[in-house]
Amino acid sequence: MNRTANLVEIFSAIQGEGPYVGERHLFLRLGGCDLRCRFCDSVHTWRPVAQGRVEVTPGARDFVTVTNPVTAEQLLTWLQRQYDGGKHTALSLTGGEPLLHADFLVEFLPVLTQHIPLPIYLETGGHRPQALAQVLPWVQIVAMDYKLPSVSGERHHTAHQQFLALAVQAGVDVFVKIVVDRQTQASELIDALTMIQAIDPQVLVILQPVTPRPGSLAPTPDQVLAWQRLAQDYVHRVRVIPQTHPLLGQL
Ligand code: SF4
Repeated sequence: MNRTANLVEIFSAIQGEGPYVGERHLFLRLGGCDLRCRFCDSVHTWRPVAQGRVEVTPGARDFVTVTNPVTAEQLLTWLQRQYDGGKHTALSLTGGEPLLHADFLVEFLPVLTQHIPLPIYLETGGHRPQALAQVLPWVQIVAMDYKLPSVSGERHHTAHQQFLALAVQAGVDVFVKIVVDRQTQASELIDALTMIQAIDPQVLVILQPVTPRPGSLAPTPDQVLAWQRLAQDYVHRVRVIPQTHPLLGQL
């Protein structure tokens, strides 16, 4: 493997979102994102970074700084050290947008999964179906976003549709996370739910009330109750799960 990657960080932490919330995951965060969501909590990952950081002891936050780009061999060494020193239930590939690194991942994941037998949990904006198709053979869990334009400022309905269809067809464990805030347009929620229903009404939908930040107000309890009830008319499984890592101080 000659390829290199832009590393933001490697660390061990508690998964803070979605149906796997509370599990201990080993995180590999890669640099660069092609979206600019209004509610983004990872602005530092939007562009490749000159230096990344690697945790030495799982969960101890004893990071050392490393210079980018990093090689696949370096990543494997650092991830293996975390894997050997901790008890994780999945390896979470995150960003930024990890699928911007599909050409790297398609070479790295087969080697990684030989050495570290953890399920690969892909956390993605859900808007790059071609890149998903490249890496799907090595991925077990897909946490995809549907970006509501009124909440995120991003509009990718057709790409989300193609993306979800591919993941469902592949038989991976896929769920759709929809961030909602006080400005959420119900008509956009209906567009998303209609699309998901047409592909597979069994797909789990997570409504994630936004973690408040400037420009993103949390929805009211009445709004969330109404949207969950609405979603239940389209898909069979709808859960409301806010981010928990800010509550735990795991930022
Ligand atoms: S896709 Fe994720 S990392 Fe990229 S801007 Fe949106 S929330 Fe931030």
